[in-house]
Amino acid sequence: GTDDRISRIASTIRVIPDFPKPGILFQDITTLLLDPKAFKDTIDLFVERYKDKNINVIAGIEARGFIFGPPIALAIGAKFVPMRKPKKLPGEVISEEYSLEYGTDVMEMHVGAVQPGENAVIVDDLVATGGTLNAAIRLLGRLGVTVVECACVIELKELKGREKLGDNPLFVLVSET
Ligand code: AMP
Repeated sequence: GTDDRISRIASTIRVIPDFPKPGILFQDITTLLLDPKAFKDTIDLFVERYKDKNINVIAGIEARGFIFGPPIALAIGAKFVPMRKPKKLPGEVISEEYSLEYGTDVMEMHVGAVQPGENAVIVDDLVATGGTLNAAIRLLGRLGVTVVECACVIELKELKGREKLGDNPLFVLVSET
């Protein structure tokens, strides 16, 4: 059942202390990708949730949203839209600045990739403080897209990222406390 799939997925995620800097417990999903059943179960759980929900857009966040987003998009018949680091996208973009632990970063997307009234799910591997997902929500909102839900493999609950998403629902497979 679903719980067996979730526990297998959780068991494949490797935790690396002090990466990329001291004090960070890095949740490494590359070991999940090495287990074909866990990887397929991950995609299937999202597909089961979002198929037949009139989702037009899967917005994937660079870089690990580019791993989980496209197979979900293909399976539900939605388009895939990359949400990228600055100066990567060649067409006309809109940008949002967001805060990190130290300093700020910028996220960009192609203006012509979506149309007002479309329905999107935003996909990333992990939500920590929620700042990254919040920037993606703001970008899609400025283009008139409805964000139906944010979907991540892992949530770091103590960082309360869910609270930063306001009324936007967050769906995760694995909650780390
Ligand atoms: P945040 O904006 O604070 O929610 O951070 C989420 C983004 O940073 C995601 O794109 C994650 O891939 C990455 N990230 C933050 N913290 C971790 C962590 N402990 N392990 C792995 N990735 C992380």
